[in-house]
Amino acid sequence: MGSSGAAAPEGKKATITPKAVIYQKYGIRASYEVEEVPEVVQNGCPGLCIPQKGPCLYRCRLNLPELSILSGTFKKKKDAEQDAAEMALRKLGIHPLTHNPDVPDAGEELVSRVAYLFSNEFLASQHPLSGHFKAALIREGDLYGAVPVSVIAVYDGKISTLCKLIDPKVESNPCLVISFVLRAAATLPTLITATEGQLWIRRQNPYPPEVIEPLLVEQSSILGSVCVQALLIPSSLNEDIKPVTLNVSSSAYYLDVIAQKLGLLDASKILVSRPIGKASSETRLYFVASDLQFVEPSSDLDGKKPDIFEGSMNTRASYLAGQEVYGGAILASIGFTWKSKDLFHEDVFLKLYYRMLIYKTPSGPYKLSRESTTAAELPVVFTIKSNWRGTFPREILCTFCRQHRLSEPVFTISRYPVKALSDLSGSQKKLKVTESTEDTGHTNENAANHGDNETVESVSNFRCEVKVLSKLQDLLLQCSPKDSYRKETDCIQNASLKVLSWLSSYFQDFNMPLEKLNSLADAINIKFNPQHLFKEFKFCSTMYLNQRRTIKANNCVDVPQATGEHENYLLRIEGPESGICPSNGFLACICYSACLVTEVGHTKELIESSHEFEFEMGARAVNPHVEAAVAQMSVGQSAFFLVDLPSQELILAAANDSARALSLINSNMCRLEYCITLLKVTEPLEDRMEQALFSPPLSKQRVEYAVEHIKKSGATTLVDFGCGSGSLLESLLDYPTSLRKIVGVDLSLKSLSRAAKVLHSKLSRSCDADLPCRGIQSATLYDGSILVFDPRICGFDIGTCLEVIEHMEEDQASLFGDLVLSSFRPSVLIVSTPNYEYNVILQKSDLSSQEEAAEGKGQLESCRFRNHDHKFEWTREQFGLWARNLASRNNYGVEFSGVGGSVDREPGFASQIALFKRLPQRDERIEDEEPVRHYNVIWEWSRCETSESFD
Ligand code: SAH
Ligand code: MG
Repeated sequence: MGSSGAAAPEGKKATITPKAVIYQKYGIRASYEVEEVPEVVQNGCPGLCIPQKGPCLYRCRLNLPELSILSGTFKKKKDAEQDAAEMALRKLGIHPLTHNPDVPDAGEELVSRVAYLFSNEFLASQHPLSGHFKAALIREGDLYGAVPVSVIAVYDGKISTLCKLIDPKVESNPCLVISFVLRAAATLPTLITATEGQLWIRRQNPYPPEVIEPLLVEQSSILGSVCVQALLIPSSLNEDIKPVTLNVSSSAYYLDVIAQKLGLLDASKILVSRPIGKASSETRLYFVASDLQFVEPSSDLDGKKPDIFEGSMNTRASYLAGQEVYGGAILASIGFTWKSKDLFHEDVFLKLYYRMLIYKTPSGPYKLSRESTTAAELPVVFTIKSNWRGTFPREILCTFCRQHRLSEPVFTISRYPVKALSDLSGSQKKLKVTESTEDTGHTNENAANHGDNETVESVSNFRCEVKVLSKLQDLLLQCSPKDSYRKETDCIQNASLKVLSWLSSYFQDFNMPLEKLNSLADAINIKFNPQHLFKEFKFCSTMYLNQRRTIKANNCVDVPQATGEHENYLLRIEGPESGICPSNGFLACICYSACLVTEVGHTKELIESSHEFEFEMGARAVNPHVEAAVAQMSVGQSAFFLVDLPSQELILAAANDSARALSLINSNMCRLEYCITLLKVTEPLEDRMEQALFSPPLSKQRVEYAVEHIKKSGATTLVDFGCGSGSLLESLLDYPTSLRKIVGVDLSLKSLSRAAKVLHSKLSRSCDADLPCRGIQSATLYDGSILVFDPRICGFDIGTCLEVIEHMEEDQASLFGDLVLSSFRPSVLIVSTPNYEYNVILQKSDLSSQEEAAEGKGQLESCRFRNHDHKFEWTREQFGLWARNLASRNNYGVEFSGVGGSVDREPGFASQIALFKRLPQRDERIEDEEPVRHYNVIWEWSRCETSESFD
């Protein structure tokens, strides 16, 4: 909200800096030490030994007698100092405003501002409030020229700022502003008439005719009759919200019309709320003043209000307005604005009410930004920026705090160097820093990285801590995720999302036992203060209590598997299987509709639909039913299924015809029917990059490389470790080889079932047709971890493990290597993994990283991994070390090769490959125990028998 600012003196700056507050309190006992935090630039010149310095950043330590605080890093010294001071104030629980020495000045300014509002000049100004002053002049009789104080309190930004300076409680009790304005008016008896006990004031002397007349002429020409829809929110929760029509004739003041709808004669006792909903909204609540709203600013009646008023408390309206509302209230979008001279007005339907309710939930702004309240869910993970659809987590968290009148969330970023090209013992985790190392500060990441290698390049990682505080600076919660990110914005989004997810679980079940809430919080590094939290959200439980939940928050299990157990909804998939299927990390683009349907009579009511709705698979960005359906579809197919109704608010926030939707919901026999068509799938960055840059695609080149070796070796048995959706096994079938038996092992049931489908169709066809794979006699897929031994795949001729090890932690990759070479002991083992050094080239060509390039990040520094699920990506040196150690420990020889790029051109191959060959055995191991079978058969096929089974 702005103000004309014409005559009122600006005076002193309304707020004082945190540093100034510290000075007032501590004087010279507060000392600031500013230090430089050098930012090392990477894009210098390879091989150059002189460190390149980037722009300097500053960090400040503030020492106070009782504590010492380290600020975040800033480009300017003074920002670092202010940040430290602000953090200290927060730690000390000092709110700058309550220590404001300017209060007497604010009181004086308030008086002069009120005086200005009643001046001749102000009446002629464009200020929204002057619209009310003019409208008051068309009121008749006693009301002539009477302006309700409430409008002065809410429509003038200057007044509310000054009142907040005088008393910060204004924030939670805006009616205090009314008291302050009345008091100021009382000091201006020659200018203003303010009658004791009345909530309106008027100018003492009439405006001179030369001021009034031109305005009134103008006024009558613009004020036509207006008819606008509004809602009446009764105070009793048992009564429905009812539509009302406001008929405002050109000779009436709209507030009087609203007052009449509330059973009053005129607007003298009407209170107006602050705008509700989105920031730009003109929607407000109108209600009758209650005596309770006017407790003296100095007295503190908190919690001592007599019970008689409890009954008339309007919970729904109070919740929306963020202030206490008693009795019935009208929700309307009408008023004078800066934008136009006319009376602004917009119809308010029930749908808007529900959208406002949803907007106040932690996931609401996301759902609304996606225009999907029933299908969309706030994702539980932030993978990469380019996969996120809808409003970003940070913005949602800020919205949430604003909606609940909390302080803006406080983000503290810590930045620390991490060695990028370290030796093998040091990890260069990018997206995740191992959680096992107990973490106290933000420096331990380097513990494993002894810097004995001077040429190692260092890069920075970011970690973000978020605090949510009340307006009075009580700490509600604090989230300190251990994940670290290469990009500052990613770590902020990730931390924001964690807070939102946790708040979401809380909003789903306000009666959740404290221990449960605590354990959910613990799991994502959140600490919260139950007293402060429950106090701030005390109304919420009544507002969202009638949610019927079909979707459990925080069930940490995966979406229901394709294989079955999910019987509570019947899924029908139609259309031919195209083979193009979305896996986790893929973007699926669907067209969908959701309709209310009754079981009897087959009435259908469309609730929401979208022609193009894109979301990331595996991030729980849609409700579990939709995700489970899409996971089983291929492009071009359609799915139909019925689910139990989600909460009533979600449906009514989407439905265009609320009345009809309500009656269907109340009919009890109603469910939600989804029709979904899978339009398109977009592969994760890794595949897109690989396809854009390599011809044939890198994955195909890997397969061809493997085939070459399989042919040469004359192998008859093959096991593919981490076979995924079967890309290698399937492609193998296109080449003539000596293979007779093939096996795949993976952990992902979804991928395995997909692999089973493609292998089945190809192998069955080979029974009649003369396909290259006709030599293959049997194929088996196992569900199991390749970190565990299973006797059934012992002694195979050849083992392959393409692009799998980087999906495990580094120590597991070593464990896998040892297990295979010591226990399974294939004659040949082929292992491929990305070459981290090649990412520079891949990412240069990738569109979505151009934005990063534009942000000024150079070369290796900005390189992220190729896939968000990768736990590491190794340089040639790291991979070499891993493979050579493994080979020598297990009596194998190893050769290095790769695909994409070439050996003798920097930075080597895009995919690096190690080829292990078993050396003549020294002494044969004797198995004395009957080995346990750990893997489960998922699918089995053998030639010209139709024996196949799904487990
Ligand atoms: N080899 C396939 C898939 C690579 S994606 C291809 O080249 O297309 C990596 C696969 O490794 C995933 O399917 C994942 O489920 C699997 N994986 C990761 N850790 C595993 C483990 N411990 N045991 C079995 N499979 C694992
Ligand atoms: Mg991979």
